Amino acid sequence: MNRVQVNVIGAGLAGCECAYKLANAGIKVKLYEMKPVKKSEAHKSDDFAELVCSNSLKSENITNACGLLKKEMEILESLFIEAAYLARVNAGQALAVDRDKFSKYITDKIKSNKNIEIIYQEVENLEELDGISVIATGPLTSSKLMENISKLIGNESLYFYDAAAPIIEADSIDMNIAYEMDRYSNEDGGDYINLPMNKQEYLKFYNELINAKMANRHEFDNIKLFEGCMPIEEMAKRGEKTLVFGPLKPVGLDNPKTHEKNYAVVQLRPENSKKTMYNMVGFQTSLSFPEQKRVFSMIPGLENANFIRYGVMHKNTYINGGKLLDSNFCLKNNNNIYFAGQISGVEGYVESAASGLMVAVSIIERLKGNSIKFPDNTMLGSLANYISTENKNYQPMNANFGIIRPLELKIKDKKLKYEKLANIAIDSIEKLKKNLE
Ligand SMILES: Cc1cc2nc3c(=O)[nH]c(=O)nc-3n(C[C@H](O)[C@H](O)[C@H](O)COP(=O)(O)OP(=O)(O)OC[C@H]3O[C@@H](n4cnc5c(N)ncnc54)[C@H](O)[C@@H]3O)c2cc1C
Repeated sequence: MNRVQVNVIGAGLAGCECAYKLANAGIKVKLYEMKPVKKSEAHKSDDFAELVCSNSLKSENITNACGLLKKEMEILESLFIEAAYLARVNAGQALAVDRDKFSKYITDKIKSNKNIEIIYQEVENLEELDGISVIATGPLTSSKLMENISKLIGNESLYFYDAAAPIIEADSIDMNIAYEMDRYSNEDGGDYINLPMNKQEYLKFYNELINAKMANRHEFDNIKLFEGCMPIEEMAKRGEKTLVFGPLKPVGLDNPKTHEKNYAVVQLRPENSKKTMYNMVGFQTSLSFPEQKRVFSMIPGLENANFIRYGVMHKNTYINGGKLLDSNFCLKNNNNIYFAGQISGVEGYVESAASGLMVAVSIIERLKGNSIKFPDNTMLGSLANYISTENKNYQPMNANFGIIRPLELKIKDKKLKYEKLANIAIDSIEKLKKNLE
């Protein structure tokens, strides 16, 4: 494969992972990075693979979805994981790293690889690059390149602001309190899950909501708030009854089991066709993650809710992968262009690096004349599946057990269930690795 060359744009988490894997398979890589000449509002270091915010790579436990993802990446010899273990600092259950050590390790590995040519340049026009290109320029992709990408894929497929509501794992909702029903259907059963509140419960929740702590806003997060994506806490501050006449209105949602009228109802909309995850309708929010957990868990039925992803409001450029990408992260209408990292529709440090790894493996196999599909009983394959499946509420996705292929036989105990899913996934990745050799 010596004569083949691949362009990787962006030496962030996804770009470095992808470039390194390709280079180790004997493929020549041109890695373009605009730092240090130009830096986004969040990037500060001159090194590659910068962790722009927290230094946590989440849990290491394989019964945690992100822990399982890391394990799968480790099996596939990920540079990101190698660096994380080398740079780890003590942080209880989580794998946290010394960010400078982590980035330096990856930067040194990239710089010393003879198959990687580093070009310090902002890429503005993809048409100037020959052959296969991987766009791994992240959620803060430079605006000139973004304009060029939007011409390529069409404006309507691009999103700039992430105003996302939290997503909850279905199994963690207390269905003794909640009921399934669509508004005005008057029938037991329906697509939505409803969480009823009496006046006392509502007021308790309301008072905590309007006084809850916001997430730290970055200076570039000067978002103009549109009515359509007003954070729930901002809306609540307009008056005690605003939510009751808005997203929490109870009309047409009388409890079909008890026929009681409710004071307020929180609705949960299925996030996927298997109904393993639910989105909190109207709950886009700027609250800090711990505050979301604390305040939203006060809603009856969500006391033990597992938040698969929290709500966010920040600048976050990503493409509508479900419409545009295949499960190898390749554009459906241009097989020379791949997307990796947050811009593809995965969410998070580990997930971004994981997508870079998958893109590299796909390209390596393609150049050998093979095709590959990461199995949907693995966390890697589930992310690939998610980003390439059409969904009218398409939003970046973290690793979570709601997207993995469910077990044929249901297991009620959550820990046992995750253990079983994790063991199946690990087996599956081990087999895949053997096939790739
Ligand atoms: C403010 C902020 C905070 C976040 N905090 C967290 C967190 O705490 N935990 C978490 O798990 N996730 C977090 N994320 C989400 C996400 O995981 C990170 O953004 C992650 O770094 C994405 O990896 P990436 O490889 O896709 O992009 P990046 O790591 O951002 O890498 C992209 C690279 O491309 C370069 N680049 C951009 N445009 C061009 C161009 N035109 N030409 C050449 N190079 C270019 C950039 O300089 C950068 O080095 C955060 C995101 C943001 C925006």
